[in-house]
Amino acid sequence: AKEQGRNRYQYFTPVMQEEALKRMRLISDLWGALNDNQFRVYYQPIVELATGAIFKAEALIRWQHPTRGLVGPNDFIPVAEDTGLIVDIGDWLFNEVASQMVKWKQHYPNLQVSVNKSPVQFRSVHDNCSNWIERLEQLGLSGENFIVEITEGLLLDARDSVVSQLNAFREAGMKIAIDDFGTGYSSLAYLRKFDIDFVKIDRSFTSNITPNSSDMVLCEAIIEMSHKLGMKVIAEGVETDEQRDLLRNADCDFAQGYLYSKPITVDQFEQLLNATQSN
Ligand code: C2E
Ligand code: CA
Ligand code: CA
Ligand code: CA
Repeated sequence: AKEQGRNRYQYFTPVMQEEALKRMRLISDLWGALNDNQFRVYYQPIVELATGAIFKAEALIRWQHPTRGLVGPNDFIPVAEDTGLIVDIGDWLFNEVASQMVKWKQHYPNLQVSVNKSPVQFRSVHDNCSNWIERLEQLGLSGENFIVEITEGLLLDARDSVVSQLNAFREAGMKIAIDDFGTGYSSLAYLRKFDIDFVKIDRSFTSNITPNSSDMVLCEAIIEMSHKLGMKVIAEGVETDEQRDLLRNADCDFAQGYLYSKPITVDQFEQLLNATQSN
């Protein structure tokens, strides 16, 4: 019994205590970050494969931390989701992107910015898509300039409130993309049930493609079926000329990846737009 008692105490080791403290600090830092305006929006271009033109970009959040430097989303989005903070962070990001679009729409009327919206945001009682749609109305923007990226899991467990939010987005002119396609509960049957505009093939497929490889066959199948269901395809994580050529030959519509550009600041993205197109 004495032995067991000692073991029980070992469950809460100094290391675990430190982890718990770190997490609590992160949560309170995230609140502070929102109030102190420490989040930044980076943009990663999405390139049309047939022409090389840039008409789209994905908005990706970064945290300009006062001591840690630029922190990537993988280091804080999961905790933001667990705590529900993602709702406020997501609203902040959308407002930021929408304000940017007001400036962009004169010069780049066809630009579409893609924004991630996680299942937690869809299911939160505090958030409904009307915040975002109202924001567009306030700013006099059309929904046409926005794509909302959702995950397959959301569709699998699509309750009425999710379906009505997706419908409201589409009624406002916004497009819907399925993110990370192929990594979750992939089912083209779900895609048919909803009005989906874009399928984004996950990097885990595109990064390994070579002629006739099984990943290439999968990409080709996704592209063909998506087209038959009336959707356009964006390949994620394109890093090499060979991957680009294989995807273009397979009739893939768009590509996104380090081959073209990493996620960059507003200024850098504008420079790229001005250098590559007469929009
Ligand atoms: P994601 O939506 O799948 O975004 C694509 C991620 O792949 C980005 O990572 C991007 O920088 C990275 N990437 C793009 N091209 C390449 C490539 O060629 N090679 C490699 N190795 N990576 C590439 P990032 O910016 O670190 O974002 C990670 C994830 O965080 C995102 O994955 C998304 O799920 C989430 N996230 C980012 N911003 C937001 C946001 O505003 N809201 C929500 N809910 N989630 C966000
Ligand atoms: Ca995404
Ligand atoms: Ca993705
Ligand atoms: Ca991903």
